[in-house]
Amino acid sequence: MSTIKVHDKTFDIYLSEETIQQRVKELAAQINTDYAGKRPLFIAILNGSFMFAADLFKQLTVEAEICFIKLASYKGMKSSGNVVTSIGLEDDLFGKDVIIVEDIVDTGKTLHNFLPKLGHQQPRSLKIATLLHKSEATVFPLHPDYVGFDIPNKFVVGYGLDYDGLGRNLKEIYQVI
Ligand code: 5GP
Repeated sequence: MSTIKVHDKTFDIYLSEETIQQRVKELAAQINTDYAGKRPLFIAILNGSFMFAADLFKQLTVEAEICFIKLASYKGMKSSGNVVTSIGLEDDLFGKDVIIVEDIVDTGKTLHNFLPKLGHQQPRSLKIATLLHKSEATVFPLHPDYVGFDIPNKFVVGYGLDYDGLGRNLKEIYQVI
């Protein structure tokens, strides 16, 4: 189906399942090359990144660890501006090669606020992998190292991303009309 309704909004198909899966494979291949001989720790940001993190992780051939943390900065279709950690980080990051896994970087505020907290733990390296990047919406300068798709500044749902709790199960990504 190319047009769907989630709550009160209508969305058009934007990225097909095949397009997403192909790009995830390419990102994983790049990470496999870049981290050859290392053992990166992926920190996936819940809730939105769970699907991307799982698909990316399945494509890895390097030894790797993964953990999940929860930050909240979005309510409905507007950023609330507050970053709250509700599931803490238990792993010790000292000396580790850390890769943050995000579903989408929008203004950059979430990661801009969160990265210094990780930096204090002195990981050996700290990189960002995001499936989507709204680079034209950047307010807080941030340069994700692995980007699936640079997308326009329009609200999207699907493949883990929700609109007020719904739409995460969609295999494709849809853009609001
Ligand atoms: P930032 O802090 O970069 O402005 O926003 C990051 C968070 O905002 C993402 O992790 C995501 O939860 C949410 N977000 C930003 N844009 C969108 C969007 O188009 N759709 C959805 N579902 N969430 C978004």
